[in-house]
Amino acid sequence: MVAQQITARGICDSRLLAVMETVPRHRFVSQDELRWAHSDGPLPIGHGQTISQPYIVALMTDLLHLTGEENVLEVGTGCGYHAAVLSQMAMDVHTVEIIAALAEQATKTLADLGYDNIHVHLGDGSNGWLEAAPYDAIIVAAAAPQVPKPLLEQLADGGRMVLPVGSRGVQELEVWRREGAAFSHQANIPVAFVPLRGKYGWN
Ligand code: SAH
Repeated sequence: MVAQQITARGICDSRLLAVMETVPRHRFVSQDELRWAHSDGPLPIGHGQTISQPYIVALMTDLLHLTGEENVLEVGTGCGYHAAVLSQMAMDVHTVEIIAALAEQATKTLADLGYDNIHVHLGDGSNGWLEAAPYDAIIVAAAAPQVPKPLLEQLADGGRMVLPVGSRGVQELEVWRREGAAFSHQANIPVAFVPLRGKYGWN
């Protein structure tokens, strides 16, 4: 998976590649999807949601330029796989999921696997998670119509945020950066994510 899908597409951060080799993706998918766990695409995780393609998980993580010291926010826990990857690249991960059953299952999987620097919260992550802000890095795993304002507010000075922004069908993966009160952003690649729900998402 790592050699053919991730390294081959140009991701070369050796720390990230080592993490992608060790986080057991097959432990996050259901029995029915097991044989596809390392395939080159997204997979259903129930409740109409999907776990992202391995390459997209790697790319989004790479774009955050994590060093190991960061407090990270993830919006959209899903099965918890991306949170596990982030937890090995940063200091702490706060991840917010809006569907209770997914939050519960992810909490259990992450505890079973011994990840102890991930905090799963149930709620509308389009509001961010104020209790643990500010965040050095924010990742949004669902497509937003525009950048949710609370997420910009909860980004630390010098922080980076990666999120898909666009229509319900297709989006651009955007990278935002905060310098004091100023925000800059650039578009990365076209992507297709499930819609972000909640106050700053799609109703
Ligand atoms: N990162 C996940 C993939 C998540 S798919 C993984 O590794 O499995 C997107 C997730 O975002 C879904 O689980 C969906 O329920 C969740 N979601 C959508 N809108 C949300 C919101 N406003 N707040 C929190 N989670 C949300």
